[in-house]
Amino acid sequence: MKRVDNFGAGPGALPTAVLEKARDELLSYQNKGISVLEMSHRSEMFDEIHLSAKNRLRRLMNIPEEYEILFLQGGASLQFSMIPMNFLQKGQTAAYVLTGSWSEKALAEAKKLGETRIAASSKEDGYRSIPAMNAIYSESNDAYLHITTNNTIYGTQWHVLPSHLDSPLVADVSSDILSRPLDVQSFSLLYAGAQKNLGPSGLTVVIVKKSWAEQASKTVPTMLSYQTHLQHDSRYNTPPTFAVYLLNLVLEWTEAQGGVPAMMEKSLRKSGYLYRVIDEFPDVYEGHACQEARSRMNVTFRLVNPERTKQFLTVANDYSFIGLSGHRSVGGIRASLYNAVSEESAARLAEFMRDFAQSEK
Ligand SMILES: *Cc1c(COP(=O)(O)O)cnc(C)c1O
Repeated sequence: MKRVDNFGAGPGALPTAVLEKARDELLSYQNKGISVLEMSHRSEMFDEIHLSAKNRLRRLMNIPEEYEILFLQGGASLQFSMIPMNFLQKGQTAAYVLTGSWSEKALAEAKKLGETRIAASSKEDGYRSIPAMNAIYSESNDAYLHITTNNTIYGTQWHVLPSHLDSPLVADVSSDILSRPLDVQSFSLLYAGAQKNLGPSGLTVVIVKKSWAEQASKTVPTMLSYQTHLQHDSRYNTPPTFAVYLLNLVLEWTEAQGGVPAMMEKSLRKSGYLYRVIDEFPDVYEGHACQEARSRMNVTFRLVNPERTKQFLTVANDYSFIGLSGHRSVGGIRASLYNAVSEESAARLAEFMRDFAQSEK
């Protein structure tokens, strides 16, 4: 069966082997005569899936025991609200580093709930860069400081993460989780919508320091309180069971590939192929991100001749390269290189870009 080269920004590509396994088990999970789709979330069979997904993620990311892993719904976008609801108390300020559209949205939600401040921003330069580390500082009444480790829309990524701050650090890692090592201990809370590097949409993974969660506000509505989900091991109500099952398969696949170090090597090679062509043809392609802030997950660029953008996308589509149009706010082209995108896919796209550039001459 022919599958396209999928560079979609999210939901993104899933490993073919994972989809095949899910297909093979769809009617009868492990020959038990029942589909995961039909299984009670309180059954022993599902217990095993749930626990396995948590254990695999803990191993892959070296998540210490003082942290709990939660499987929630509402996307990364609901975390934008849940974080200030739980952790921004009266008299405190929530600090946000603005590096793109998602961080702006996170800030907008906090603003509705309390005092906020912008700890640093790269808005002035069209979100081409990440603010300098020494421009970011803590204040004594910070409830937390929020960053977005990879900016999916603008194609920038933090390559050094702040480790000098006193404020609890919170990060949206939706689009680069499991693509590089992360020191979980330097964060109080990490969150990611699953549909980029972890699995299907409909599932949000939260990794929270238990001692921090204990300090959360007690007046938050039940379903929006981290304490609820902590106390019920993410099964206060019916969780997205099939999404958790697929997450477990993606994590199993990730382990078999060599885990996070292997994913990082692969993402360096894949993004390297594309950036090399962009740099090779400066009169044809213009990258959006400045060199130091280039994302290994989302490669954003435009054609120097804007009239050729549409042609690029049309011809690319003829070659079965899918999902390449840039976000409506940035325009141009965006190639997302999530973990499931193969090296061969990235190499084929690079070759296509080189041929397209040469055909312009
Ligand atoms: C995709 C994305 C989101 C939004 O995720 P939803 O699950 O659709 O709410 C938020 N932050 C980042 C960095 C993203 O890439």
